[in-house]
Amino acid sequence: MGLANDKSIAWGVAQACAEAGAELAFSYQGEQLLKRVGPLAESLGSDFVVPCDVGDPASLDALFDRIKEVWGGLDFVVHAIGFSDKSELRGRYVDTSPENFRMSMDISVYSFTAVMQRAEKLMNEGGAALTLTYYGAEKVMPHYNVMGVAKAALEASVRYLAEDLGKDGIRVNAISAGTIKTLAASGIGDFRYIMKWNEYNSPLRRNVTQEEVGKSALYLLSDLGSAVTGEVLHVDAGYHVVGMKAVDAPDI
Ligand code: NAD
Repeated sequence: MGLANDKSIAWGVAQACAEAGAELAFSYQGEQLLKRVGPLAESLGSDFVVPCDVGDPASLDALFDRIKEVWGGLDFVVHAIGFSDKSELRGRYVDTSPENFRMSMDISVYSFTAVMQRAEKLMNEGGAALTLTYYGAEKVMPHYNVMGVAKAALEASVRYLAEDLGKDGIRVNAISAGTIKTLAASGIGDFRYIMKWNEYNSPLRRNVTQEEVGKSALYLLSDLGSAVTGEVLHVDAGYHVVGMKAVDAPDI
């Protein structure tokens, strides 16, 4: 869930899973995205493509009903979805409007729980779930504002869901991805500057790719991660361990 185009993090995850032999279904938000998502799914051998707006409970029900009808069960689910009004992804957090606060929390946080309420019922032999988060949940990042607050709540949801669903053999994890140029990220103020800063200051002195997030996702979704749950795995070239600007970092 959350494939928009071939720059999406969901695309890196889908490719890694398909390469490992997974049979995939894709949900997309709105008819406009179908012309991108349809061919991408097809290139991975899937014609199982279903519309779903996670803000609409009926749309979520329809998606999971369809999965039940076609597959009868589900091994894993990937939630690579986030949204906030981009006019509030710049300036001051304190100015966040109540409408955008509620909408960002609904689409970027609650939707993962809503997905798990439905996915749980299809994971009869256990399963795995993954969502995507960002370092702005832990530390203040420029312009990330209400999304930082939303990601903090999303990471807490991962832990609570892991506890609730663990008894049924369902694992719930998150990847905290480094900055990647995607449609969603381009809505964040000064994103190019933030990407450069990460490149110069992360221990690996570079940014990460969708493919790299995909490989770590495969670990968490597959049997390779069979004892890992409630975890937020940083796939960020190590940026989260750094305390200050690197001495060799150029000025930007
Ligand atoms: P993207 O724009 O490719 O994907 C975002 C997806 O969210 C889109 O497919 C969009 O259709 C979907 N979406 C938004 N509102 C929706 C709704 N109401 N119903 C259904 N789908 C909806 O961007 P991305 O960067 O691949 O984002 C995927 C996830 O990764 C997001 O949670 C994002 O916060 C997270 N993330 C991104 C970065 C980055 O630097 N790009 C870093 C860390 C975490």
